[in-house]
Order: sequence, then structure tokens, then C-alpha cells
Amino acid sequence: MDNTVIITDKKDNVGIVVNSSGLPKGTVLDDGTSLIESIPMGHKVTLRKIGDGEDIIRYGQTIGFAKGRMEAGEWVQESKILLPTPPELESIPLPAHRELQLEPLEGYTFQGYKNPDGSVGTKNVLGITTSVQCVAGLAEHVVKKIKRDLLPKYPNVDDVVPLTHSYGCGVAIHAPAAIVPIRTIRNIITNPNFGGEVMVIGLGCEKLRPEDLIPKSPVKKNSKEDLKNSSILYMQDESFQGFDEMVQGVMKMAEERLEKLNRRKRETCPASELVVGMQCGGSDAFSGITANPAAGYAADLIVRAGGSVMFSEVTEVRDAAHLLVPRTINPTIGKALLDEMKWFDDYLMQGQVDRSANTAPGNKQGGLSNIVEKALGSIVKSGTSPIVDVLGPGEKIRQKGLTFAATPASDFVCGTLQLAAGMNMHVFMTGRGSPYGLSAVPVIKVGSNTKLSKRWFDLIDFDAGEIASGEKSIEEMGWELFHMILDVASGKKQVACDILGLHNDLVLFNPGPLT
Ligand code: CA
Repeated sequence: MDNTVIITDKKDNVGIVVNSSGLPKGTVLDDGTSLIESIPMGHKVTLRKIGDGEDIIRYGQTIGFAKGRMEAGEWVQESKILLPTPPELESIPLPAHRELQLEPLEGYTFQGYKNPDGSVGTKNVLGITTSVQCVAGLAEHVVKKIKRDLLPKYPNVDDVVPLTHSYGCGVAIHAPAAIVPIRTIRNIITNPNFGGEVMVIGLGCEKLRPEDLIPKSPVKKNSKEDLKNSSILYMQDESFQGFDEMVQGVMKMAEERLEKLNRRKRETCPASELVVGMQCGGSDAFSGITANPAAGYAADLIVRAGGSVMFSEVTEVRDAAHLLVPRTINPTIGKALLDEMKWFDDYLMQGQVDRSANTAPGNKQGGLSNIVEKALGSIVKSGTSPIVDVLGPGEKIRQKGLTFAATPASDFVCGTLQLAAGMNMHVFMTGRGSPYGLSAVPVIKVGSNTKLSKRWFDLIDFDAGEIASGEKSIEEMGWELFHMILDVASGKKQVACDILGLHNDLVLFNPGPLT
């Protein structure tokens, strides 16, 4: 096998072992380096001598400094690397204004559900919102009943989803940071896959008022029906005698909406209607050379086709801030990106941690030594397009093109926030393996290495590991992923987590205090 070690940049003084069984001591690499010890798959090997304190370079960037001398052919274990300080946000220069110049990509379409607000859905789902955790039991009880008794009568509706969460009461609702969970819940309701059909189960005495969660605009003038009143059911409503009447009330409200959703039909929509959220979880050293570059290539194709792509996960891009700010379209967006990073630095500092708390034990076993190496591999999934906008956590997407949507890197929190931002497709890269899925939006899971993709044959949708073995190029895999995104968005192909029914809970980001 030729590709025993992958080197991403000419300046690199370490390479990544790609063989699935690792490389034994004594292996001689193409450049003549002889391994002085055995090195597992995904881990780094020194390509020349590295002096004490010298830069360790991967992706052409410093990922750390050598703790002591290293010989050529040595295993670069995490304990041998000192973490560099993150780039000073204040010292990063803002970009000049520039024009967007993209080579247009035309003629690509998918079969989606057009919504009255102009957005396009990729699934047809009834979302039942809740204003407070107190009602989660009712919501879950009634959703089971709806699935059993009503859903079979409405075959065009894919699913019924209870949008339960931990917020709503016992929280400092007027704290400045409360805006984050509140707008997240509010914006999730308008995700394109819910078709504009809104209903909320409230308790009655909670701090978060259900009437404040409902979008104001769809209320038609002269409509006899007051949308607000007919879209909210309060458990404490005095007309209900006992639990069963509440259940019947929710069922009736749900059935009215199922009838409308059932009339939705897929239509041909341009690829410019895609809103793709990119995320990774359970990353390994391959993520940055296979899965993320393929996703980045697909991201560029979507942007060229006029669509929207989001990337997120502040702690995983923080160490690459100096590479991202120059990619923003003007000084205002550059500043907005820096402000989100600064906000997160302060947030972590309050908890007496820093971004180094991000790397998980699995990341390290997979060969990712620290957060700097992880970040350099992580930003690759954003592709090469200019960054046209920056969103705060839970904000709704505003622009076509590439947006940085600030979120924590935690998989379910990031997914929940991207759902609020309005994604209609989710692409999730993993190296260690994650069963992650969302019920509201299809999640394409991309495996970074073939060993995982084969072992998890029914959990992974797309094997990007063929890039490491040299069987396919990043470009080929990027196109294949782009086509898979269109097929899944069209409902032609089902993703693994939907086939298996593996769906994670929505998890809100609440940086505010509880009371
Ligand atoms: Ca993540």
C-alpha cells in the first residue's frame, strides 16, 4: 500500500499513519524515514528530528511545541506536545471590503416542500412545541398516541416530533443571556421542515409565555380564527376535566395540522434552497484529511449553486481565528466573528476552563493531540468560500452563501442551534463513530476512515476514508457527497439514523442563570 503516511502540507514535520492496523517499528516510509517504534492508525510520526521547543507542524501550521527532543520516525504522543497559546483576537487584522466572486454552478435541483414563507423543507414533520419542561410528559404521551392513531391516516407526513426542552421556568428569564434559549425555541418552530404549522403545549403559570413563542407574521387580517389562541393549549385551562381531556385537546389541534401537512407535495426546487449545517463529532486525525475536506468541497459546490452553508462550533475554530477572519466578506462581519470568539472566551473563563477542555479522550486515542490540531482539521469543512455572515447562537440564517453560526461544539447543542438557524440538511463528520441523529432534519453521517465506515456499515452513510487510501480524490468525494445531499433532501434516499430511528433530544444552550 502506497499511502502509509499522509502529509497535508510541504512545511509539515509530522505525517499521519493511515494503515488500519498502524505501522510496525522498522517500517521505512517513502521519504526514507525509518520508524523507531510502532505507531497506531491516525497517530503522528516525526518526519525529521525536532529539537526541544521547536514547532510541530501539521496543515502547514504550528499545532504545538516539542517537549524535549524527538528523533525522526518517532511517535508524537500527546505528552510530547506543549499547547500553544491561542491567537490574540485583538491582534487579528480585519479584512477589507470585497466583492463576492464565485463561479456559478447551475442546473442542480432537489425535490422539496415549498413553504409560504419562501423556505423549503426536506421532510414533512409536525412539530409540537412546548413552553416548559413541566409539560414534556404530556407531549411525549400524546405524540405516541398521534403516531399510533392519527399518523397512518396522513401518509404524506413523515413524523410527529415533540419539541421538548429543559427551559421555560425556574430560570432568570430577564437575564441578558436568556435571549439565547428563548430565540432558539422560537426559531425552531419556524424550521422549514415543519411547514409553517405551529402548535404549542403550555402549562399556564410558566415564565416563558407560549404566546411569545409563536411567529407574529402568519396571522391573516380579517381571519375569524385567532391563530394565537388556536395554536396554544394550556394544561391549566380550567375547561379541562382531567388528563384525558387535555390529551383529546392536543389530538384535535394536531389533526387539524396533519390534514394541512398531508396536502404538501414535493416540487422541483433549485439547489440554492439548501440550507446545510456542517458539524463534526467524535473526530479523529483522519477527520481533517478525509471527511472534513470532502464536506468542505461539497460546501463550496452548494455555495456556488446559490445555497446556504453553516459551520459552527466556536471552541473548535477558536485556534484558527486568524485563518477565518481574513475570509470574512467585510470588516463588520470580521468583527462579528471576533466578537463571538471573545464572548465564548469569556464564557469559558467564567467556568474556569479554556478551550483545551474541548478535546475528548476519544479524540486523543484517535490521534488528535490537542485543540489546535482539532481546530485546523475542523475548519476545513467550511470549504474555501468567503464568510458572508455571522450568527449568534440560536439566530435565524439571513444570507445565502457561507455563514458562521456560533454554537458550542457539543453535538446535540450545536445541532439544536443549527436547527433553529433554519437548516434543512445536516452533514455530520465522525472518525470515532457517533449514532447522532435528529428527527426534524436528515443527518448524513460521514465516516472519516474506512475501518469505522465498514464496522458501522448500517450507521454511517458515506465513507470518506477512501481519500486516505488514495482510491478517491477529495474532489470526487466532494461531488459524491453533494449528490447524496440532493438525494436525501429529495426524500429519494433515507439516512441511517432515520432508518434505525436513532434521534437525539433537542438540547438548548442556556448560558443564563437558573433561579
Ligand atoms: Ca460537535
